[in-house]
Amino acid sequence: MCVNIMLICAEEMKKTMKEIHERLDKVSPVDFDCGTLCGEVCCVYDKEHSDEELMLYLMPGEELLYEDNAYFELYTIASNAPDYPDDWEDNIFVVKCTSPPECDRRLRPIQCKTFPLIPHISIEGEFHLVFDESEYPYVCPLVNENRKLEDDFINETYSVWKMLINNPVVYDLVKIDSRRRNEKKVEYRIVK
Ligand code: SF4
Ligand code: SF4
Repeated sequence: MCVNIMLICAEEMKKTMKEIHERLDKVSPVDFDCGTLCGEVCCVYDKEHSDEELMLYLMPGEELLYEDNAYFELYTIASNAPDYPDDWEDNIFVVKCTSPPECDRRLRPIQCKTFPLIPHISIEGEFHLVFDESEYPYVCPLVNENRKLEDDFINETYSVWKMLINNPVVYDLVKIDSRRRNEKKVEYRIVK
């Protein structure tokens, strides 16, 4: 019985994650390939500037989409890893991009599909999308030059993240990052 319930939950979760991915595939930050502005630095920075592999964390349930795809390797890290909420008890899934900047575009993780917008919860508890250059070690021209992003990209990204933070562990993760931004007095810009 329990196994059956878990299977149904996993199927539902996979369907929801697939729908989110498909919604995000229909929008793009700008109406041209922004990788031409920077040499796709957000994909290749780690490979070119450090010994670290490019790893992206996944939303709970998103890991169900990553079965046997040559462009991604799925890993788990302990739920007590630094920077993750205490109540995130299940394993945390991350994917390694095996040959960046090439990948299966349809399967880019949500945090990649919604970049360079970053979810933020204000001290008053309001949800926003922000530009925050302190989040990564390279320069993203879209953020650095404060470029106007496509409205449908902003709106779809907002709607998806608003839905994702209904999950308490995602909410806590976004909140932890947001408070860190406030404590370090990071300059960020609210986009929506
Ligand atoms: S999102 Fe920013 S860093 Fe990434 S490819 Fe586009 S312009 Fe470059
Ligand atoms: S998933 Fe694709 S687009 Fe995203 S960082 Fe990896 S290689 Fe780049």
